[in-house]
Order: sequence, then structure tokens, then C-alpha cells
Amino acid sequence: MEEGKRAAHAMLFPFPCSGHINPTLKLAELLHSRGVHVTFVNTDHNHQRLRRPRGREGFRFESVADGLDGADRVAPDRTVRLYLSLRKTCKAPLLDLARRLGKREGVPPVTCVVISGLVSFALAVADDLRVPSFVLWGTSAVGFVCTLRLRQLRQRGYTPLKDETYLTNGYLDTPIDWIAGMPTVRLGDVSSFVRTLDPTSFALRVEEEEANSCARAQGLILNTFHDLEADVLDALGDEFPRVYTIGPLAAAMHRRVDHHVASGLSLWEEDAACMAWLDARPEPPGSVLYVSFGSLAVLSPGQLAEFAWGLAASERPFLWVVRPGLVGGDRGMDALPEDFLAATKGRSFIAEWCAQEQVLRHRAVGGFLTHSGWNSTTESIWAGVPMICAPGFADQYINCRYACGEWGIGLRLDEELRREQVAAHVEELMGGGKKAQDMRRNAAEWKARAEAATEPGGSAYENLDKLVEELRVEGSNSSAAVKFATVTNGRR
Ligand code: UDP
Repeated sequence: MEEGKRAAHAMLFPFPCSGHINPTLKLAELLHSRGVHVTFVNTDHNHQRLRRPRGREGFRFESVADGLDGADRVAPDRTVRLYLSLRKTCKAPLLDLARRLGKREGVPPVTCVVISGLVSFALAVADDLRVPSFVLWGTSAVGFVCTLRLRQLRQRGYTPLKDETYLTNGYLDTPIDWIAGMPTVRLGDVSSFVRTLDPTSFALRVEEEEANSCARAQGLILNTFHDLEADVLDALGDEFPRVYTIGPLAAAMHRRVDHHVASGLSLWEEDAACMAWLDARPEPPGSVLYVSFGSLAVLSPGQLAEFAWGLAASERPFLWVVRPGLVGGDRGMDALPEDFLAATKGRSFIAEWCAQEQVLRHRAVGGFLTHSGWNSTTESIWAGVPMICAPGFADQYINCRYACGEWGIGLRLDEELRREQVAAHVEELMGGGKKAQDMRRNAAEWKARAEAATEPGGSAYENLDKLVEELRVEGSNSSAAVKFATVTNGRR
């Protein structure tokens, strides 16, 4: 495509962790497929770790320093340090990068800035460039609304909790029935951040502030589709007039982007052998349980043991991702209980990391034991795979609540993990009883609706086109784009 046609130039900057990088990269690919010039900005640290990903025509990778030192990177609170450091040090390098990009031969000036959640400081970069900004908030619509409402929950005295007993005395079951567009939910399901005793809780304030600051952007982009969350999206529209639901991003990518050229940015190496193991499973299709807790969750050795012995007791085949760092103390596979591998030999595969979308869409896989992260949930919905949900952080509780209650595709594990319940839920999901049949039927229906949303004429498909149109209009109105148009016209 001629550079002149790419006059809209989006600079994308995600918070530097997998759960933000993956969806932002998909959005970048989708924008590029629609003729938008794209610059995807990683941190220098991830850029090295990803072995300097190579771009292609109209799609470049750049990087900026995150300001962390070696000690910060291994500190238990490294994510907090990263957040603070980016906020303090990263605006100037991003601004400088955007300005330098605009001076390069054949590169249109940056005409909009697209960020993920948790990097709202970068909205000021767009302001300084006098170009519009968009936020791809990486949760469900309901997850976003719940995060916005943390402010009211705090102001109305629901949180912080009075003392430790409130975590277990039933207080978290308090019904919350006043959030527009949502059914009555438990206080504990609104967000993990309500579970604090600290009136100055850093995480609570950050989440609340980051979500509310999305109002400063021109538009909000969500990895969901209208049918899935119609009520809450309709209510959200009163507060956020420009919401673009363009998901599931994995489905949209699959439909609109050529996989041979698209970039992948996995922070861990994907184990190809697990795909061969799935290919070779002798059981009927849908017999394997896939188990993964995403890129950030940290289990205690005790929780790991409950999962492990529950899986062992279920006697069903399973593929389990045990990434380095999944277990406290930076441990991974080495923390699995002794004898566990021997006890599940012949029906288990343990991988450090895998190509999750492919795994979920593999015909051998019929269930997903998940932490209910939003990317994982949407990937499971798109694959039509029902879930066992073990939420533990942020929006995972409300995702689980919707998967089990609203969409009928999930079974929830109690907060206090017990191996007997893990085994019973695995049996219930994989065993083919009435409940499992209902969940499979619902999952197949949501899969079909996700497909329909992302095909031509579908809501997500149309919304992506609207977003691109918006970028072009906004782009052509911005001073940078006008300058670029003049320059390219002059050259012709
Ligand atoms: N993922 C992956 N391979 C794995 C485990 C996870 O590619 O072995 C990907 C998964 O497909 C998803 C992301 O990591 O896109 C996890 O995001 P999610 O929002 O589910 O959870 P988070 O990591 O943010 O807690």
C-alpha cells in the first residue's frame, strides 16, 4: 500500500505485560490491515526480550526506556515499580519518539495515540502532539464499569474493609444492586480491589484513577462484542459516548489479518511439543482439559498442590501451563508436588508456555480451567470451550460471575481451594452429564455469536471500520496530518 494512503498513523503503547501487549498488538494488526500506518512501542527491556521484533511496510516496532534497574526487575513489587517508573519517566521519551517519527522520510506524522489501561500518563503525549487519543481497556465492558464504580464503593463506605474478619464473615456477599446495566452481584465479585483494609490502598486508587481517566480520551476501545454485554454497554454509552466494541480480538484477527505476515510477541517461548501431544491424543474430541492461570497469577505452593492433586484425582487427560514464576518465590515446574507426574503419567502434559489460542481451538480440548483473565475468557468464548473458573485478582471475579451466571459457560471454584472440589468440577465439566451438556450448548452458541460479530456486517466488524474512519477523520484534522498531506503532495 502506498504510504500516502496511510496518512492515519497510530502510535500504540501498551502497559508492558502480556495481558496488555497481546490485545494491543492485535488491535495494531487490525488497524494496519485497514490501511493505518502503525508504530508499536515496547519498553527497551521487552524489546530485547522479544529479540527486537521486525516490522514490515507501514508497521514498525520502536522502544523506550522503562526507567527500572536490575534490582527493580526482581523485586516482589516489580509491577508497581514499573507502573510508577513509567508514569514518572516515560512521557518525554514517548513524545520525543513521536516527533522523531514524523520527521522520517516516507513516514506520516503520528496522528493518534492508542494506549492500553494503566498508562494514562501517555494521554498527555497525545495532548502535547495535539492529536486524539484512544484507550484499549483490556477488560470486559462489565470489568471496566466495575473499575469505574470503585470510586462510589469507596465513597459509600463499602471499602476499605473494617478488619480481616470481613474477608471471611460473609460481608463480601453483600448484594450490589445499583450499578447501571448490571444484575445484582456480590460485593466481592465487583473487583479484587475492594478486599483491602488500607484506606490509602495504592492498587484501589490506581485502578479507579486509571479507569476514570479514560474519559479524557476521544474514544474507548473494548475487546468484547455487543451481544455478550448488551445491557452494560448500553448503560456505559451514557457516560462514554464513543465506545468501540471490536472483539473478540482473536476472532477479528483470524478473520481479517494474514497470519503469515502478522507479528506475534510472546514474552515466553511457546512449547510446540504440546500441540503434537494434543494431535496424538487417542480419546474422542473434546476430552482434554486445558489448565492455565495466565501471565501474572502467583499461586502459593499449597494452592498449586490442591490443583495438582485435584487434577490427578479426576483421571481426565490435561495440558497444564506452569510458567516460571507461577508459584511464589519465582518457582515453576520445580514446585509441583513429588509423585504428581508419576501419578498422571500418560494423560498429562506440562508446558511452560503454549500458543493458547491454538490450544483452545484444538479439537482435543473440551474444557479450560482458568483464572478468568479477560483475554483467556474471550479466547475460550471464541473457541466455544466451557470453563472452570478460579479467579483471584482484579476483574477476574466479575468475569467469572458473568461466565457462570450470565453466559452459562462456567463452573466456579470456591475461594478456598480444595482438591476434592477441583476433581469434582473437572468430572462435572468433562464427564458429559446434564450440566456439562448445557454448558457446551451455551458455549457453542456464544462461539457462533462471536463469529457473527466479527464477520462482515457483524457489530464488531462494523465498529472496527467506524474506528478506522474516525482515525482518518481525526487524523486529517490534526495539524500533524495536514502538514504530512502538504509534504506528500509537494513531493508528487
Ligand atoms: N497465554 C499464552 N500462553 C500460555 C498462557 C497464556 O499465550 O501458555 C496468553 C493468553 O492467550 C492470553 C494471555 O496470555 O492472551 C493472558 O491474558 P489474560 O488476560 O487471560 O490474563 P493475565 O495474564 O493478564 O492475567
